[in-house]
Amino acid sequence: MSTKRIRVLDHGYIELLDSMGDDAEVARAARQSYGNSNDRSWELDAKLTKRLYEDGHTSPFEMVEVKFKVRAPIFVARQWVRHRTANWSEFSMRYADASKLSESEKPLVYIPEEWRGAPPSSNHQGSVTGTFTEYEDALFSDAYETWVNEGLRLYKEMQEAGVANEMARFCIPVTGYTEFVWKNDLHNTLKFLKLRTHEGAQKEMREYAEAIRTLLHQEFPKLMAVIDAG
Ligand SMILES: Cc1cc2nc3c(=O)[nH]c(=O)nc-3n(C[C@H](O)[C@H](O)[C@H](O)COP(=O)(O)OP(=O)(O)OC[C@H]3O[C@@H](n4cnc5c(N)ncnc54)[C@H](O)[C@@H]3O)c2cc1C
Repeated sequence: MSTKRIRVLDHGYIELLDSMGDDAEVARAARQSYGNSNDRSWELDAKLTKRLYEDGHTSPFEMVEVKFKVRAPIFVARQWVRHRTANWSEFSMRYADASKLSESEKPLVYIPEEWRGAPPSSNHQGSVTGTFTEYEDALFSDAYETWVNEGLRLYKEMQEAGVANEMARFCIPVTGYTEFVWKNDLHNTLKFLKLRTHEGAQKEMREYAEAIRTLLHQEFPKLMAVIDAG
């Protein structure tokens, strides 16, 4: 497995496929504006990058780009795609069998480790862990898995009977996994992280956002240290 790939949830992952720029790119891009793009010491680059970040400059951060391959449940992808500044290319279940998303025969479906409770009525977002007993949790899981497996069985049955992929997929729940490639610049990726690592964001989505943060730190260690300190 690539060292740039992080496992997320039960069957998901995020992998850094490519990047453009390096730790000094933000400072280099900013210096373009006064016609001097010669490389400087990291101390000067770090100072300039810090100031640009704190003052809310955007263009220099847009000069760094990152491209990820993601496998995530459809309900996570639906939230993710709302970040419109990114480029997106998704596996289509119209053309291919969803079982191609996995090494196994079945399309992959997310099975949560725990059923979280509804939040207090004053807070419409989020969920509360530790709400249910082990017994209650197991009951929900059993019912859910029965329902999911029935959908997957029907999906295969329809395909085998010659139903088009674009219709057979109606049987796959929004917890089914999809795969997509996501490319974005650093400015909008940082905005994505701010919104999607916030405690108001869905827990499953937060896990992907945290994995992106880890991959960014691996790829741009000095740049991300400056940003995090900002
Ligand atoms: C916790 C949470 C809950 C949410 N709940 C809901 C919900 O219930 N329903 C729902 O529909 N969405 C929901 N969203 C999605 C949210 O409304 C945004 O669509 C999403 O966060 C993307 O943010 P963005 O538009 O800033 O990002 P991007 O789409 O990446 O855009 C980045 C910036 O570029 C600019 N921009 C991009 N496109 C345009 C444009 N066409 N015109 C003008 N400026 C543009 C804006 O300045 C924008 O801030 C939720 C998001 C979060 C984090």
